[in-house]
Amino acid sequence: MKFLTILLTVLACNNVPSTTVTSTEPGAPSPTATVAAASDTLIPAQYTDGKLVKVQKSEDAWKSELSEKEFYVLRQEGTERAFTGDLWKHHEHGTYVCAGCGLPLFSSETKFDSGTGWPSFYKPISEDCIADKTDSSHGMDRTEVECARCGGHQGHVFPDGPPPTGLRYCINSVSLDFVKQ
Ligand code: FE
Repeated sequence: MKFLTILLTVLACNNVPSTTVTSTEPGAPSPTATVAAASDTLIPAQYTDGKLVKVQKSEDAWKSELSEKEFYVLRQEGTERAFTGDLWKHHEHGTYVCAGCGLPLFSSETKFDSGTGWPSFYKPISEDCIADKTDSSHGMDRTEVECARCGGHQGHVFPDGPPPTGLRYCINSVSLDFVKQ
């Protein structure tokens, strides 16, 4: 009985949501790794043959794991209303990670007050962690910013930021989790 109790305790402790990450390189074998997908947990990038190992999940899986607001912004490219998120005036030292997969995206060292009501950064932690693509919705040509690992929509990047890059990464609070240092 004691053994059964210990076994059940161990199983319960291991019962955390997990994410399978796979390489998506065409034609390549699919190395996989399982990483914890708990929110506000920093899960570093993993590389296989120099390529970022990606997270792949069905939209149904995302829907079951994310809040309604997270799903709307991260998976449906929505935008939270300005000045409503919990990170636009957040000033602690630490790392902002993707709310979908925990990939470190931005450092508090590069955060600045843009006055827009959204968290703003002048550069990502690593170019590898950000995917840019043109977004022509709403009658504007903008550059969309995605998490390079899970494809989660983060926001947009504009060429009106401060030195040294001159860029403004305008990111939704709901797309980010903060890990304090
Ligand atoms: Fe992600």
